[in-house]
Amino acid sequence: MAKTFIEGIAQKLRIIPNLDREHGSGNYGPLRKYPAAEEWNEHIELDANAWPERVERKYSLVPTTCFNCESACGLLAYVDKETGQVSKFEGNPHHPGSRGRNCAKGPATINQIQDTERIMHPMRRVGARGNGGWERISWDEALDEISAKIRASLKTGAVDRVVYHVGRPGHEGFMNRVLRAWGVDGHNSHTNICSAGARTGYALWHKFDRPSPDHTNAKVILLTSSHLETGHYFNPHAQRILEGMMDGAKLIVIDPRLSNTAAMADHWLPTWPGSEPALFLAWAKMILERGLYDREFMETQVNWDAWMKAVHPDEACEFERFIELLVEEYAEYTPEFAAEECRIPVEQVIEAGEVVAGAGSRLCTHVWRSAAIGNLGGWQVSRTLHFLNVLTGSVGTEGGTAPNSWSKFKPELFDEPPDPDGWNELHFPPEYTLAHYEMSHILPHMIKEGRGSMDVYFTRVFNPVWTYPDGFSWMEMLQNEESVGCHIALTPTWNETAFFADYVLPMGHASERHDVNSYATSSGKWVAFRQPVLREYARREGREVEFTHEVNPGEVWEEDEFWNELSWRIDDGTMGIREHFMSPYREGEKITIDEYYQYLFERVPGLPDAAAAEGTDALGYMRKHGAFLIEESTYKKYEKDGWPTPSGKQEFYSETMIEFGHPEHSIPHYRQKSHVHPDNLTGEDEYCLLPNFRLPQHIHSRSANAKWLVEIAHRNPIWIHPKDARRLGVAEGDLLKIETEIGWFVDKVWVTEGIKPGVVGCSHHIGRWRRSQDAGNRFLTNTVSIEDTGNGKMRMRTVSGIEPWKSDDPDTNRIWWRDGGVHQNITHAVQPDPISGAHCWLQKVRLSRPSEGEEYGDIEVDRQKSFEYYKRWNKWAKDRETHPRGERRPLWMKRPLAPKKEHFIIGERD
Ligand code: SF4
Repeated sequence: MAKTFIEGIAQKLRIIPNLDREHGSGNYGPLRKYPAAEEWNEHIELDANAWPERVERKYSLVPTTCFNCESACGLLAYVDKETGQVSKFEGNPHHPGSRGRNCAKGPATINQIQDTERIMHPMRRVGARGNGGWERISWDEALDEISAKIRASLKTGAVDRVVYHVGRPGHEGFMNRVLRAWGVDGHNSHTNICSAGARTGYALWHKFDRPSPDHTNAKVILLTSSHLETGHYFNPHAQRILEGMMDGAKLIVIDPRLSNTAAMADHWLPTWPGSEPALFLAWAKMILERGLYDREFMETQVNWDAWMKAVHPDEACEFERFIELLVEEYAEYTPEFAAEECRIPVEQVIEAGEVVAGAGSRLCTHVWRSAAIGNLGGWQVSRTLHFLNVLTGSVGTEGGTAPNSWSKFKPELFDEPPDPDGWNELHFPPEYTLAHYEMSHILPHMIKEGRGSMDVYFTRVFNPVWTYPDGFSWMEMLQNEESVGCHIALTPTWNETAFFADYVLPMGHASERHDVNSYATSSGKWVAFRQPVLREYARREGREVEFTHEVNPGEVWEEDEFWNELSWRIDDGTMGIREHFMSPYREGEKITIDEYYQYLFERVPGLPDAAAAEGTDALGYMRKHGAFLIEESTYKKYEKDGWPTPSGKQEFYSETMIEFGHPEHSIPHYRQKSHVHPDNLTGEDEYCLLPNFRLPQHIHSRSANAKWLVEIAHRNPIWIHPKDARRLGVAEGDLLKIETEIGWFVDKVWVTEGIKPGVVGCSHHIGRWRRSQDAGNRFLTNTVSIEDTGNGKMRMRTVSGIEPWKSDDPDTNRIWWRDGGVHQNITHAVQPDPISGAHCWLQKVRLSRPSEGEEYGDIEVDRQKSFEYYKRWNKWAKDRETHPRGERRPLWMKRPLAPKKEHFIIGERD
């Protein structure tokens, strides 16, 4: 990198050192962004701590991928050759998604692996479940005992009583293959509290259920999210949004909160939560009326004719007439109507709408969580947002938004067991016919209703007691051994759910595990390798390693090898499981983890050739570089592949919605007002609580042991507009009682104009806790007491805040913050959207000053109320339950880990 004129002068004046010159025996060369890959095993750096002495340190740089959000950005682990340990993480410049850059959470991986309180060996509960007693056991004991329980369950013939529930996924097909080998319909996920709302809206258009925006080449970037700071694919997207903006793209951000992203926008529209579809349809109408739609795309790629034939059978089925009728159909969505619903000035609707309407094929739209997962009917947000792409012909174009699957690599695995022979109704209950993922957030309520139970329940990097709404119902379920026969928590660090497990098994962080990753972070397609770096370092040093726990800290293991070993032990030789874990290279022998990845990488298009050019094989290439670009760009794949929908087109008109009992939603509309629509807030003191925004430096429920991240943010006050603060008579730092449908919590207020009047906000992530008998995460956990006060009521109180402690890490004794925030989610009722099945995160709340004796951090929840409230929302789904041709759900839509086809028909095999 050439130095600037100023740097040159500063060097001459010796204000800064001469960075170009040669030093002693080592030649450090000119400044550069990253060491060259050829030097990665022999990298030399000066020890910053030894300055001004010039002490050289030797490193082996091993690529892996970050595990702290879904993006799987590239990391380079610096393994110190003197200590044999990782000393820091930087970005991997060879990773096509992140291109050498990371957010704060990537380098903070070093905090996680050096956490003095991390779980180092397998543990088994002592005493009653949830009481906090543990004893150390060996991996052999854990494998034998757990495999015996699974074997016993499988031998009953049940296919739905062994369940794997995943929080942070990311190993592309590995676990589905294992579950299929066991023959269970046992996959559960967190998606229904995350992206299921948006997925449903996208799937109705084209089956693909996620968007992949090409920000770099956009003319207009329209975000219903805060992607310059947080979100799925946040760092890879943020760097491309900036590239687009530097090239002249306009940024429009829709958010009732002035996020850091909104603060960077050309147009910030603080819409009322849930009103977004009204806004998008007003813009759709502008595009149609001004003739700015892409006629060719619309006419050839959209099933407009199906709507004409079904709804206007007496009209000529001609495109021009279709447009005229469409303008009539959307006549109600005037800018004034949108302004009224969104509670923003009409001028703003028109001004931003003109920018959108003028974007043409370079309109780049995105929705992540936010409104789509917040509101009753939130799936309409993505349904109407994508309509703007359809109208402007910006689907899959340069600068537009493509289906994510076009950019996602699907690996070919060495063995494909048969699909499960049964249907798990606790995951896909019959009344949620269009639920895009498992109904995981109402699992405790369905079990309480007597709809099933589980023999063996794995939670994998998953913390529902804290993350999910109504956590007390999760504690109740987990403590009941009739409901959950055995609970095994696979986790790299302690969490509130692991406190209620029978076994806690320590799993690796980013640099301690194998995974293969591929995500739609840009218009290209790539694959990346998350590898245990000390294993690769050992290989470079000529040491053989059989299992990754041999090189990881303590006895920390990883899931891949754990599942292989567990599967082997489940099978007593009569169950046909072992045959799915045999080496594809060595006849009759158990597969090794290296063979698994060797087989997979050998089949990545283009990778074996790239490897051969470097004199290695596909696995060797991935061990060295950590990632591989499969396709530069994936534009307009529909021209070759078409659309995988019943009509073979983009489905403007959805017969599926009609058949499954929702005819009012056959085309994009705003027919379902949110549960937090102003019409549904009745009292003077009723507000909408926005609880689902993230802080940029936190990792859902896994940053409580990352000291750098916690130091930056450790409180979650209530954001409140000055007008509302005046109305309630509260000032900065005062206490406020927030009453939800099932309980209340007491928090401090932060008075800010960065939130819309009538809406209050409280960030996700903070308010972590442990009881006096629990371990771990002391950087960010309050010590709490939990009391059952009778009649289903539970009370949580903060006993003490965060305190310093002495350990091998001097920083633990330097903690200066004391306030760990308040756990808000536990006071939220479950609110399953009757169509998408997604949890509707936004809460209708009443605000007041706390009564005497109600203190900061106090929480109360009535579990009877929460059960009754669940039944009310559940009934909305039951009222519309329709099964055309006996189908449980549309056959053409996706279902994770789909069972055999006959089980999609109710009654056929059940
Ligand atoms: S965005 Fe940040 S947390 Fe997510 S994978 Fe990239 S570096 Fe890690």
